[in-house]
Amino acid sequence: MSDYKFVNIPSLENWVILAPKRSKRPDIHEKKKKLCPFCVGNEKKDPDVYRIGGEGLDQNWSVRVVKNKYPFAPIHEVIIHSPQHIEHLTDLPLSQIQLVIEAFVNRFNAHIKEGTVIIFGNSGHDAGESIGHTHSQLAVVPRDVPVVVPRLEEILDYTGEHFMVKDFKLICPPYSQWPDEVWIIPTARGKIFSEITFEEIESLSYVLKHLLRILAARHGHEFPYNFYIYPYRDWYLRIMPRAKIAGGFEMATGIFVNTQDPRDTMKFIKQHFFEEDEEKIKINKAEYRKGV
Ligand SMILES: [Zn+2]
Ligand SMILES: [Zn+2]
Repeated sequence: MSDYKFVNIPSLENWVILAPKRSKRPDIHEKKKKLCPFCVGNEKKDPDVYRIGGEGLDQNWSVRVVKNKYPFAPIHEVIIHSPQHIEHLTDLPLSQIQLVIEAFVNRFNAHIKEGTVIIFGNSGHDAGESIGHTHSQLAVVPRDVPVVVPRLEEILDYTGEHFMVKDFKLICPPYSQWPDEVWIIPTARGKIFSEITFEEIESLSYVLKHLLRILAARHGHEFPYNFYIYPYRDWYLRIMPRAKIAGGFEMATGIFVNTQDPRDTMKFIKQHFFEEDEEKIKINKAEYRKGV
C-alpha cells in the first residue's frame, strides 16, 4: 500500500485516510532531546523545502519547513518553529512567532493551487504530537475530496461576548465543541489567510502568545491542544484545548456534548488576557468534565 489512501465512507459525505506507515513514525518526547530531528544540525539529513534565515543547508535558520516523512496527504509538510529545542509556541519570542506565521503564509501560497491547504497544529502528546519540539503541519487535501470546515457566520453579533486585541476579535461561540475553545478572527473579514498583512501577522503572533500563555496557566504547561487555520475565504484560526475525551455518542452522531459554558471561557479571557501573575490565572480553574 502507498503511504496513504483516501477512502470515501459510503452513505456519508466524509472520508477516511488510511495511513498505516504512520504507525512507524518515531515517538520522541521529552526525554530524548538528543534524537530530535527538528533541532539544528539535521539540515543535511533532512533538507528543507523552505526556510527563513541562513543559506543552502547551513545551520543559520530561524524557521525551516521539511517534508513529512510519514505523509497522509499528497503534500504534507512540517513547519519547524525554532532551531532550538523549545517545546511550546508560547515560549518563543514574539519576533520568532511572527516568522512562523510568515512561513505559514509562504507555504499556504505555495500549495493553494494544488488543493485545500490545511495548516494545523497538534501540541502535547494527548493532542497527537509525536515530537516535543514546537512545530506545525500543512496538509493538502485533493480537490475531489470535499472538506467541510465550519464557516464563520455572515454577520457576527456577539455583543459583549467578544474580546478585541489589536487587529483580532476573540470569540467563544455558543456552539463550541470543546471546553475553552477560542476562535481568533481578523477584524478585516472576508480574506483568504494568505492575504494577511504584515501588521496582522504582528498582531496574530501577539494574540497567540498571550492566549496560549493564559490557557497554559489554566490547564497546565503541557496542556494538549489543536489548532487549524480555515482554508477558504473569510479565514479564522481556531484553538481547541483537548481537555476532554469524545465519547460514544459524539463519535456516533458528530454532536458534541460540551460540559462547559463557552461564556466562562470568554469571561476568563477578559479577566486574564493581560494578567502578568500566572498564579492569579491558575486559581481560575475551568469547570468541565474530562468525559461527557
Ligand atoms: Zn528539538
Ligand atoms: Zn513541556
